[in-house]
Amino acid sequence: MQDRHGHHISYLRVSITDRCNERCAYCMPHELQEWFPRSEILTYEETLRLIRIGVELGVSKVRITGGEPLTRRGVLDLVRELPKIPGLCDVGLSTNGTLLAREVEPHRTMAAALRHASVRSVNISLDTLDRHAYSEITGRDLHAQVLNGIDAAVAAGFDQIKLNTVLMRGRNEDQLIPLIEFAAARNLILRFIEMMPVSTREVLDEENFISISEAKRAIESRYGSLIPQPDFRTNGPAAYYQIPGRQQRIGFIGAMTNLHFCESCNKLRLTCDGKLRPCLGSYL
Ligand code: SAM
Ligand code: SF4
Repeated sequence: MQDRHGHHISYLRVSITDRCNERCAYCMPHELQEWFPRSEILTYEETLRLIRIGVELGVSKVRITGGEPLTRRGVLDLVRELPKIPGLCDVGLSTNGTLLAREVEPHRTMAAALRHASVRSVNISLDTLDRHAYSEITGRDLHAQVLNGIDAAVAAGFDQIKLNTVLMRGRNEDQLIPLIEFAAARNLILRFIEMMPVSTREVLDEENFISISEAKRAIESRYGSLIPQPDFRTNGPAAYYQIPGRQQRIGFIGAMTNLHFCESCNKLRLTCDGKLRPCLGSYL
């Protein structure tokens, strides 16, 4: 499968819900969110059928996302069907982490159940280690649940766990080093993401935007020059670097300032109401 710019499409991001238990300032309006009526959301059977068609057309990796995918009832039933699709090699999930530590079966957390269902990697959002700042950013006081969720993910033994941090001045520019140390202590990959204008709230303005080059400079003033890792890729647009004197890698996703951002794109998105989006920018 190829788009009209010549990108080979091998990665399908599947949103299974528009709903979420948080209200991140850069993603959703704080309240008064209008959700899709349930009748407009694809059933799991419909979602699986579309994934199967995607795999026939060349998709080899699927990432389940949302909204918050773990808020949708029966998510494990969907995930358990994915390894049965011949040709689908890799299943990942993006989550805010709040529900990963929840016990879904006796003595089994959601994280362990996902791993058992052959989910290979999880991306967990974590913008700050400060509980108060976390509540301000996400509109919910669920920081402890996220930290427990990260522990549960580590215990579950995923092949890869990535932490995603959206950069926001006045909210988390003091968190770059603490987050790097937090990730190092758990052997996790941390990625810093430039805020994109996807919310209806007026959060993206020059005052609170932090570019990846600014973040990189701040990190280098602490650790020294970061060492580029051009051969390390994780299926996405992140540029990875090694911290001098450590094995630790960190990534930067510069959707707003990296002019080459779209060049290596291999993604197609399926929305929870059954629309295909070739590009995040196509519906801004
Ligand atoms: N609810 C899950 C989560 O928060 O990880 C999955 C869906 S969320 C939309 C996927 C990722 O998009 C998260 O890492 C989130 O931080 C990021 N994101 C959301 N809005 C963004 C924005 N305006 N700019 C940059 N990244 C954003
Ligand atoms: Fe929910 Fe994720 Fe959006 Fe935050 S970024 S509001 S956790 S969907």
